[in-house]
This record gives sequence, C-alpha cells and structure tokens, in this order.
Amino acid sequence: MTCQKCKGLMVTEWRPEFSQEAAVLRCINCGLVLDPLIAQNRVISLGVKQRVLKAA
Ligand SMILES: [Zn+2]
Repeated sequence: MTCQKCKGLMVTEWRPEFSQEAAVLRCINCGLVLDPLIAQNRVISLGVKQRVLKAA
C-alpha cells in the first residue's frame, strides 16, 4: 500500500493509542497514520477520547 499524501511506503503498526482492535498503517516517508477501523467506527473512538479525558 502507498501513502495517499506522498506515495511513500506504508507499513502496518500496532498502535493502541490509535486503535485497540486493529493495526494502523503508517507512512515511513512522511509519518501519515491511517486508521480505517476508527474512520468507520467514530462512536467507538469518541468513547475512547471521553475515557482519556476523565483519566486526565
Ligand atoms: Zn506519506
């Protein structure tokens, strides 16, 4: 897979701060992070943000 922004190489990474259910794609050239799962499940990502705010 190539980056939408710079056409660089994207690698799969496990990033719990972005998604606790799936790996995300990160561009090794420009650092762009893509998380298709959170983009499709915005309700879940909002729930995670609220929990983080309460913890802080
Ligand atoms: Zn890129």
